[in-house]
Amino acid sequence: MTETADAIVIGSGALGGSVAYHLRRAGYSTLLLDRHDIASQTSPRAAGLSAVLRPSALMTRLARRGAELLLDFERETGIPIGLHRSGSLKLARSAALAEQLRQEIRRAAAYGVEARMVNAQEAARLMPLLHAEAAAAIAYFPEDLYLDPALFTSGVAEAARRLGCVSKPNTMVEEILLDGGRVCGVRTASGIISAPVVVDAAGAWARGLARSAALPMIAVRHQLVVTRPIAEVRAEQPVTRVLDANVYVRPCDGGLMLGGYESEPLLLDEPPASVEDMPLDLAILEGLAAAVRAEFPILSDLEGAKLRGGMPTMTLDDEHLIGPVPGVDGFFVIGGCNVGGLSTALSFAETLCGIIADPSAAVEIAPLLPARFAGRDIPEASLRQACRLHYGQHYWSDAARATG
Ligand SMILES: Cc1cc2nc3c(=O)[nH]c(=O)nc-3n(C[C@H](O)[C@H](O)[C@H](O)COP(=O)(O)OP(=O)(O)OC[C@H]3O[C@@H](n4cnc5c(N)ncnc54)[C@H](O)[C@@H]3O)c2cc1C
Repeated sequence: MTETADAIVIGSGALGGSVAYHLRRAGYSTLLLDRHDIASQTSPRAAGLSAVLRPSALMTRLARRGAELLLDFERETGIPIGLHRSGSLKLARSAALAEQLRQEIRRAAAYGVEARMVNAQEAARLMPLLHAEAAAAIAYFPEDLYLDPALFTSGVAEAARRLGCVSKPNTMVEEILLDGGRVCGVRTASGIISAPVVVDAAGAWARGLARSAALPMIAVRHQLVVTRPIAEVRAEQPVTRVLDANVYVRPCDGGLMLGGYESEPLLLDEPPASVEDMPLDLAILEGLAAAVRAEFPILSDLEGAKLRGGMPTMTLDDEHLIGPVPGVDGFFVIGGCNVGGLSTALSFAETLCGIIADPSAAVEIAPLLPARFAGRDIPEASLRQACRLHYGQHYWSDAARATG
């Protein structure tokens, strides 16, 4: 007999797990399918940074809601996710990026987000390992937070399971099944599962699975290192971003985490079958550490540091892809994360579930809907160029994302 559910979620990363969690809360019988182990691919390898202030009012609203949902999650489920409302510092060396920070402070005021400029002494009081004397400007965002990505990803899948979601690891979806212009289920290696709602949360593989021209995104390698414990590090010290170097640093396991955005990233047009098959390259992190030697001399020596990486996706316009897949009723996507899909996953998923229940709600997130690309002919070379640029300039524009 064919298995059935109200909804199938493909992919048990932070985004798919969060969708399954919200769908169960809304009463949908839900299957969470993953080709690998549950919560085992890119999400648990992330940095876990979350910034409330975003380039637009819409994204700031979603990010703030995401932070609220994270703070509630531990309390409501009792599942720890290693959350620290540490605040964050952004440091600019150049006049251009100092001006960008001043614009961010103005935008924060307009959106009701706490933010202020601080001097080098105050920055050093907040983050004693930071040498900020030469900075042209430093901004402080007290509402920002970070969390443990592995605890969160497995935690949200576990929370969905406790609410009755059925998880199926090692279940690869081979095909999205259609009946006319509607989705009617999926075909897996072990059989067909029927459902009127299917959500593609397949991360690096989401585009290949959906086969929709309206999902212009490419997976990219993104890596970080975690140092051995350092005596001066405290978990409540703020996340610090050095904008000019495109580098972030935060406390992690008693040491420091360092990650960043190299200007020539490795694009993964055909992502490997598992994130474990993606080659890592410590030399890139050594280069990024050298780029912040003035601010974080302690990171000059990465001896003994642990390297990890995953495959987030960049999109043509550097915005997420959330909502109905054009042309197929009942088929939805949540992805195109632009290295910022983890910490806002609960909020993105809540929004998507609202759209699944009431399609008219989609209008509220128009800039994120895949429909914005429907009918457009996007040459692959243009897409690659845009993705490389958005990644390599992650912290450099007055619309800086600063999510990851
Ligand atoms: C080093 C690093 C640092 C990062 N830092 C941050 C940060 O600070 N803040 C932030 O918000 N984001 C950050 N990100 C980005 C974040 O990790 C991603 O946005 C997020 O993990 C995307 O989640 P996902 O659920 O789409 O992907 P994944 O976690 O990869 O989940 C997708 C799942 O789909 C499954 N799947 C794929 N195809 C199929 C199929 N055909 N059938 C069944 N299952 C399938 C996969 O097995 C996988 O488990 C970072 C990423 C990296 C790598």
